[in-house]
Amino acid sequence: MRKILLLSLIVLVVAFYSGLSNLGVAIAQKDDIVFKTFVHDPRAPGKPVPVSNCTVTTNDQVSDFGLAGWYMPSAGMDYQINFGTKPKNLSESQVSAAIQSSFNTWTAADPKQKFNYAGTTTTKAAKFDGTNAILWKGITRGALAITYAWYYTTTGELVEADTVFNRNYKWDLTDISAGDCGGTTGDYDVQNIATHEFGHWVGLDDLYSSADKDLTMYGYGETKELKKDSLGLGDISGVNAIAP
Ligand SMILES: [Zn+2]
Repeated sequence: MRKILLLSLIVLVVAFYSGLSNLGVAIAQKDDIVFKTFVHDPRAPGKPVPVSNCTVTTNDQVSDFGLAGWYMPSAGMDYQINFGTKPKNLSESQVSAAIQSSFNTWTAADPKQKFNYAGTTTTKAAKFDGTNAILWKGITRGALAITYAWYYTTTGELVEADTVFNRNYKWDLTDISAGDCGGTTGDYDVQNIATHEFGHWVGLDDLYSSADKDLTMYGYGETKELKKDSLGLGDISGVNAIAP
């Protein structure tokens, strides 16, 4: 079987910003912000794969984790959702609940990681604008979802994070009680992928070893996959190793 590269290809972009005062963000040292993206490539860009290769968990007690290089502020992160961009088959309350559940999963593993819902946003793209936005957008390059993080290189503290889900794929929501794999054929689960993406917000990196396939931070994903909803040992160890 062809090896499927799905969830994560990390693209590192380093950009130094100037004139940040124009963006309405309080920046003490404007040259210390790094911009980093996580790109999660599905195996068939633009075309959801009808047959899922989701596998049930056999071992999520491996201790592996990777650090992305930043940590969240101790006050937590306020986040906003652009409901105008959400999948039409999901209601606002469904999307809101899924996003909140994904954030809560990390807070439950480490209460120092706090997230606060701050309402809706009309932001249609990831940009350094002072809003931690969650939205859907057509991504032509075949990425499932992308998380952008801006942080101070001097201190490592996160300044802003945005997560963009690709509208070119089919999204759905299925409760983890259905098992590690479940839901509609060809659909990606919002909470499953969101929990992975928010692992980047807290400062975790992707993992690619096949030994890590049952961890939330494993860098590949599948249609009908639900198992990233719950964290494995490495995910929990990792988030607790990062001090806000
Ligand atoms: Zn990732």
